[in-house]
Formats: sequence, structure tokens, C-alpha cells
Amino acid sequence: MIPNERIDHLERLLEVVRGLTTAPDLDSFLQSIINEASELTNSELASILEYDPDAIELRFLAMQWFDRDLLRPMGVPLEGSAAGWVYRKGQPLIIQDTKADKRHFKVVDRVTKHETQSLVAVPLMVRGEVIGVLEALNKKDDAHYTEEDLTILETLGALAAQAIRNNTLERKVRSARIELADLERLKSDFVAITSHELRTPLGLILGHATFLRELAGSEYADQLDTIIRNATKLKDIVENLSDVDNFQTGAARVRSAKVSLAKITEDTILTFQDEAKSRNITLKAELGTSPFFVEADGVKIGIALSNLVKNAIQFTDPGGIVTVKVEEDSGYMKVEVSDTGIGIPARDLPRVFERFFQVETHLTRRYGGMGLGLSVAKSMVDLHKGRIWVESEEGKGSTFIFLLPIEKTGTPAASNNPFTE
Ligand code: ADP
Repeated sequence: MIPNERIDHLERLLEVVRGLTTAPDLDSFLQSIINEASELTNSELASILEYDPDAIELRFLAMQWFDRDLLRPMGVPLEGSAAGWVYRKGQPLIIQDTKADKRHFKVVDRVTKHETQSLVAVPLMVRGEVIGVLEALNKKDDAHYTEEDLTILETLGALAAQAIRNNTLERKVRSARIELADLERLKSDFVAITSHELRTPLGLILGHATFLRELAGSEYADQLDTIIRNATKLKDIVENLSDVDNFQTGAARVRSAKVSLAKITEDTILTFQDEAKSRNITLKAELGTSPFFVEADGVKIGIALSNLVKNAIQFTDPGGIVTVKVEEDSGYMKVEVSDTGIGIPARDLPRVFERFFQVETHLTRRYGGMGLGLSVAKSMVDLHKGRIWVESEEGKGSTFIFLLPIEKTGTPAASNNPFTE
């Protein structure tokens, strides 16, 4: 080959390589491959065949436009065809005279009314696996195929194989995504229906038990208290479930107003004080005198804080301390709930805010809960464009911290934005 021709070939191959990332779809890329394959090897035709594992034969994936309709439905057997031989052996093949070679599959010629005189074919390989064949037919001017032609075809074949592989992977990723979205929808529907269906009977149980508790006096007080306590626990679980659901479906709306974090903290501490005392845990607030006003949805922030305080009490042994601290921190309100409890193993820290995640599995579990409290807390904080995280050491205790922007709108200057790490 003369040097200018070689440079021209290299430039054209380079153009095909570029197409690997720029071609709009697989078909047009493979079309450019067979066009170059026939031109650069000075052949009449070229085509790409892909192995079809269901039919156990090769099928035409790309071919010259005038043969398309004829060849698309056609299968090429693995035995008794040159392409099949290349596929099975995983080796390239040159046949200078097809009439003298039994491997040529004559049916294609009959269908396309073409006569194949010579051919060169290479396997399409991906990581040692043959996925198809690229072939060029009928070297023009009665010339013979050369090693040079083989090298060109091998280069183009490698590109075609990669493109086919990428396309298959992309298809798989797409269908996995659809499957995942279906599963997620199923889970969300299940949560929505369950929480909705449980809420009414639970409300009735609680209402009637409270009514009876007042009527029955002291004789059945313990039994009725147990019913009320456990029904209340169930109600908390149902509410957590529907909070998660509302957040996921986008039904959760922030009703912002100027609220005092000091007040929310005091209310939360009051709610949990009896439970903390009964477990001999000191529950206290460090607030100072500021009301700590923020533009926020007080109910949602209350839910987030309650879930953190509830966990802190639950995962702290008798004699321990749970502290809620609020302070202002460069344009944000910072709320910290720290405990001297069992802590969280470092490997589990990244997962504690996931739905249904629990450090101990249900089978070995000493503590109740459904693994929803922290994901609800995170949803509530996220709704406010805030941020929540945990610092913890196993055996020493945990500190859950969340930040809320003080103003509803307006992002603070990037320099003191604690959300950019
Ligand atoms: P649950 O309702 O099971 O408590 P959460 O989402 O509230 O679910 O918490 C998830 C898991 O994180 C808990 O099961 C627990 O293992 C761990 N965890 C949460 N808070 C604490 C804490 N203060 N101390 C130790 N572990 C905690």
C-alpha cells in the first residue's frame, strides 16, 4: 500500500472510532462500519451477523441497504456457512474462491441474487467471547484478499463488537431501571394502603379503650393502660409509614411559619420526660434564652425531633443522659440530640437514614421499631432544604445533628454555606 493510501485508511478508521461516541444509534454506527469495511477492503459488499442464542444461528444485524429486507428475516446456520465457521472457531477466514470451498452458505446468494466469489470474515469478540461476525464479499478487480484486508476488518470488527456490547448493556440497565421503579411503586402502594387501612380501626380501638379507662375506675386500669399504650405505639408506626409515603409521593407540603425551635424542643422534652424517667435516663435541653425562630413547618420539625429523641432514649441504658441543644450557626439553626447510649458501628453509619434499616436485624433484635424513624426525620429536614447527619462511636453514644436555614428563601453566601462540603 502506498503511504498516502495508508494515511487515508487510518484517517477513515479514526473517523469510525469517533462514531463510537457520536453516532446517534447502533444501527447508523454499524452501517458506517460496513460501508468502511467494503470500501477499505475494496469489496462489493459487507455485513455484520450477530449470534442469536434462542435460534442457535447467526442473524444479519447490518447489511447494504438494498439487501436489507431480504436478509433481515434470514438465519445463517453455524454449520455449513463461512460465517458460522468463523463464529464457532473464533478465527478469521479468507476464501479466495467460494466455489471451491464447501463452507460457503449458498442460500444467501440465491435469496439476494448475488454471486459470492470471495470473502474475508472476522469474529466479533468481547472479552474473549464471540458475539458475531463481520464479513466482506467479492474483492473487486478479481484481486485476492490480503493480510492487510484482514487487519482492517479486525479493527472495524473490534469497534462493532464494542458498540453492540454497549448497546446490550444499555438495554439491560434501562430494563433494570424500569423494574426497580415498578418495585418502588409497589412498595410505596403497599405502605400507602397499609397505613390507610390500619388507621381507622386503630383510632376506634384507642377511642373506645380511653373511654372504658375512664369508666372502669381502678379495677381494670392496668389492662386498659396496656391496651392504650400498645395501640398508641401502633398508631406511631402507622403515622411514620404514612409520613414516609407522603414524602415519597410528593404529597408532603411544608406549611411554613415563624416557629420557635426552643418551644418545639421544650414540648418534645415534655412529651418524652415520663418515658425517660421510667428508664432512669436524664433528658434535658440546653437552650439559653433565645427563642431560636426559623421559617419552618413546626409540625414536621416536631416529628423529626421526636424521632431523634425517641431513639436516643431507646438506645441508651439506664443512668444515661440525653441532651437536646439548639444554637445558631451562620445563617442556620443547628439542633443536636446527643446520648450516652450504645452508639452505632462505623460500618452502619452511612445507612441509618435508609428506610427500614436497623443496625440489628429483626431476628436478633432487643429493641422495637421498624427502621423508619430516621428516614422520616431526614425527609422532614430535606423538605426544609436542611441537612441531617450523625456522629457516633460504638459503646460511647451518638449525636444526631440537623441544620435548618433560618430564612425560607435566599441561599446564604457560598463561603459560609455548611451544605457544601
Ligand atoms: P427504628 O424505628 O428501628 O428505631 P430508625 O430509623 O429510627 O428506626 O433508626 C434506625 C436504626 O438506627 C435503629 O434501628 C438503630 O439501630 C439505629 N439508631 C438510631 N438512633 C440511634 C441512637 N440514638 N443510638 C444508637 N442507635 C441508633
